[in-house]
Amino acid sequence: MLIRARVVLPMTSPALAQGAVRVEGARICEVSRAADLLPTTGETVVELGDAVLLPGLINAHCHLDYSTLRNAIAPPSGFTEWVQRINSIKRQLSDEDVLEAIRRGYAEARRFGTTTVCSMAAFPDLIPELPPAPLRTWWFYEMIDIRHRITSEEVVAGALSFFDQSQNALTQFGLNPHAPYTASLLLYRLARACAQQNGMLLTTHLSESLEETAMFADGNGALHQFLEGLGRPMHDCGHDTPFGWLWRNGAIGKGWILAHLNDLRASDFSLLETIAPEHFPHVVHCPGSHAYFKHPHFAFTKLAGLGVNICVGTDSLASTDSLSLLSELRRLQALELGLSPEDLLHTITLAPARALRQEGQLGCIAPGALADLIAIPFTGDPEEAAAACVAYPGVISWMMVDGKISGLEAV
Ligand SMILES: [Zn+2]
Repeated sequence: MLIRARVVLPMTSPALAQGAVRVEGARICEVSRAADLLPTTGETVVELGDAVLLPGLINAHCHLDYSTLRNAIAPPSGFTEWVQRINSIKRQLSDEDVLEAIRRGYAEARRFGTTTVCSMAAFPDLIPELPPAPLRTWWFYEMIDIRHRITSEEVVAGALSFFDQSQNALTQFGLNPHAPYTASLLLYRLARACAQQNGMLLTTHLSESLEETAMFADGNGALHQFLEGLGRPMHDCGHDTPFGWLWRNGAIGKGWILAHLNDLRASDFSLLETIAPEHFPHVVHCPGSHAYFKHPHFAFTKLAGLGVNICVGTDSLASTDSLSLLSELRRLQALELGLSPEDLLHTITLAPARALRQEGQLGCIAPGALADLIAIPFTGDPEEAAAACVAYPGVISWMMVDGKISGLEAV
């Protein structure tokens, strides 16, 4: 199949005027100017006309299973209050509620051009009940062991049995020790060993709020008080920042995908400076959720300056208003004036592809890459294409996932 568009934006090479992309099966095999890439006899030609063809967008952090919770929690006075509210809402959700939330989350992600989604799985037992994933999906099994009834070993055993039973073509799995305040060092280390053995990805929520930092670094604050009240052992508090605590104790390391890092102290930056860039974890920033909680300024420039691979995600609809990655980029653009449209698009294409160990496979239009593509209406010149994509507020009406054109009705 040959797909032609006014502009092709490959991300790994300059924008191409009057471009054409040849797709065979699930993969891209050629990218060139349309004049140099003529259809073979009988080949299907898709004429997108006045449009930019770009790689499908990758959401590096979300929670599809909270997709019915938009506006369910008014902006809280603090992070701990929100944790208490979502825990109480989660207890009331039926299996049908969760399945409906995932269905709606997929539909919304698809509407805004997401072809790959990394979703935390708080209800992993329900994953086998889902129809085949309509988008490329990494489910990250949420692991929590602060409740006394569950041992760290039991959590890991649960995760492994889940992987055995829930396979389909677009779905892959990873592990998500939830956060240092809900998962023990032992659980982190077990998850790490388990992922290394099975070639799985690892992600966690880290340094998300001032209250999390106060709990670990200072041994006080609202989150500390709340969790102590629940009976959580607090001997890990009062020593180090959340990032410092996990990194220095070997709980996290190279290749981890760290969601948030909103509240880093000087000691965190000193620690990062001692880590070789090739050992850096990846970071996911969620601008809408960040604004909702009024977290401290996200140190985009400082982290990028150190060479950290920064991705953008949406987080869940329980703390942001849409699953549109382009809308998230516009929020980031308003605060980080030094970022070019290409820099911004990088955070939802090439950066998450790297975090998912899919460089050359996802997030780019290049020979050998998977054919996950979207088209955005556009009538300008190639050098204006990236800015027009970031500014595009509408629904994505043309999308290809795994070499198959997917209509809006597909999810
Ligand atoms: Zn999250």
